[in-house]
Amino acid sequence: MLIPARMSEAEEQRWVNVMLDKLAAQESRRTLDDSDLAERARRLSDQYFDGRARPASVRWVTNQNTRWGSCTPSEGSIRLSHRLQGMPEYVVDYVLCHELAHLLVPGHGPRFWRLLEAYPRTERARGYLEGVVAAERLPHLPGARGT
Ligand SMILES: [Zn+2]
Repeated sequence: MLIPARMSEAEEQRWVNVMLDKLAAQESRRTLDDSDLAERARRLSDQYFDGRARPASVRWVTNQNTRWGSCTPSEGSIRLSHRLQGMPEYVVDYVLCHELAHLLVPGHGPRFWRLLEAYPRTERARGYLEGVVAAERLPHLPGARGT
């Protein structure tokens, strides 16, 4: 951080707090709300699935802790775990693509994964999510949840 010269310690602290508040505000702005999510899903569907996956609703849920995303093809609804919030965009996009693909192909057979190959960061995103799960299972690692 660039701190203007000749500040008293109190001024400096106040200035740092202002900058931190600004950063926090930017951070929260980056979190997608439900309508952003629907728009994003539409764009991903256009880009990778020729617009064939058309969800009726896409939203965040907080009651989903063991799965990153889920969908109900009969209703065309997609739900994403709030645990994805704050993860890199390509990871959120992957989970969206995954659920969009389920609107076209149920289950995880070869046809499903072939469809997902259209999204170029599938492997990387899966690795990231596997890493998150693995880190959570290592109780003594700093930053891991639980004890
Ligand atoms: Zn799946």
